[in-house]
Amino acid sequence: MNVNVNVAETREVTRIERIGAHSHIRGLGLDDTLDPRPVSQGLVGQTSARRAAGVVCEMVKEGKIAGRAVLIAGQPGTGKTAIAMGIAQALGVDTPFTAMAGSEIYSLEMSKTEALTQAFRKSIGVRIREETEIIEGEVVEVQIDRPATGTGAKIGKLTLKTTEMETVYDLGTKMIDSVIKEKVQAGDVITIDKATGKITKLGRSFTRARDYDATGAQTRFVQCPEGELQKKKEVTHTVTLHEIDVINSRTQGFLALFSGDTGEIKPEVRDQINAKVSEWREEGKAEIAPGVLFVDEVHMLDMECFSYLNRALEDDMAPIVVMATNRGITRIRGTNYTSPHGIPIDLLDRMIIIPTSPYQEKELMEILKIRCEEEDCEMGEDAMKVLTRIAVEASLRYAIQLISVANLVCKKRKGTSISVDDIKRVYSLFIDEARSCQFLSEYQNEFMF
Ligand code: ATP
Repeated sequence: MNVNVNVAETREVTRIERIGAHSHIRGLGLDDTLDPRPVSQGLVGQTSARRAAGVVCEMVKEGKIAGRAVLIAGQPGTGKTAIAMGIAQALGVDTPFTAMAGSEIYSLEMSKTEALTQAFRKSIGVRIREETEIIEGEVVEVQIDRPATGTGAKIGKLTLKTTEMETVYDLGTKMIDSVIKEKVQAGDVITIDKATGKITKLGRSFTRARDYDATGAQTRFVQCPEGELQKKKEVTHTVTLHEIDVINSRTQGFLALFSGDTGEIKPEVRDQINAKVSEWREEGKAEIAPGVLFVDEVHMLDMECFSYLNRALEDDMAPIVVMATNRGITRIRGTNYTSPHGIPIDLLDRMIIIPTSPYQEKELMEILKIRCEEEDCEMGEDAMKVLTRIAVEASLRYAIQLISVANLVCKKRKGTSISVDDIKRVYSLFIDEARSCQFLSEYQNEFMF
């Protein structure tokens, strides 16, 4: 089977930057001795959990995590997701991170194990190494014929002189665009990437200055710069196993990556892809980059899912599975047994458990300040104090959500900095969970039959 991994363009589109709930997290914020800095890489406080997470990262780097998983246990809004994301970032920029909620697997679109398999494969990166040839030399002549508008594509030629020979290249549309964009003319020293046709201007030849004349493109040179004829450049790109699955799945096609609507993928496709990837690994063409799979509300998984996890964790290509829960002793879904966090004891036994604790008021303020910066909002000091109070009384997440809404209100009154009044206004417009419950219980007779 010819496994296709040409997803470069897909990644370009899917990587569009967004301001998400955790986009301010850039790592775990630890120093060289794995000690957490109070505020660093977007993370604030929660120091013992971050220190523990740092140890997990070290275990991963030393390959000592196989067969185990991490459980982050703590109250809502204590940064469980944020820390899981910090782990992924600390493992390297191209480390895949997938977040899912336990309840997501009960979708009607696919079976529970298929949903988990997809989540696993989205969290396993394959770093593929490729060699591309780069040609470097001095431009002798560029000719681009610009047809009158509307008469089709431009055509062109580029003569390049290297230390060894002079070659004429026929320029395709992409290369012509590149030549025009870079304003390439005779005497420029350029590189051409043979695989992509990308032209990069390195500078001007020192011999050029002497012989330069106004005709530019037609000028020829005897000397040429010290350039190698061809260089091999190694490029690496990371794709996930799931992406390879989707583009190679005949019924799906790569467009499914955009819609997220991938449906079930046939086991045979995956088997073939696994075989191909191991072949690449043996040939030294690819390596596996285990990512982080974060499963929130893990108590929502049932017995079948837990058995799947137990098995999948043993795989040599398994990602680092980080689970989170805010439940204590509860029933294991699909059974009549109770257990800590609703997780079967045998799985719990394989877990490294990291607790998170509630924040101090000044830590909440620090997080809110970081979020304001992330969302590009100016906030006055008094307004910040009020918002922090709201985070203490209602919840951190509610307070974070008020930032962008308050900013809209501020802009509407043509203000430049969010004021106490802006916060008050949005606080009265949008109620938090506690006020919503209170409201419902006060008026429930009018709401329900
Ligand atoms: P839940 O149990 O409800 O899923 P959680 O424990 O996963 O909550 P998060 O979603 O991580 O909590 O936190 C809520 C918000 O606060 C997020 O935007 C998160 O990025 C931010 N946040 C939480 N803790 C920290 C922290 N220590 N430093 C910086 N930002 C944080």
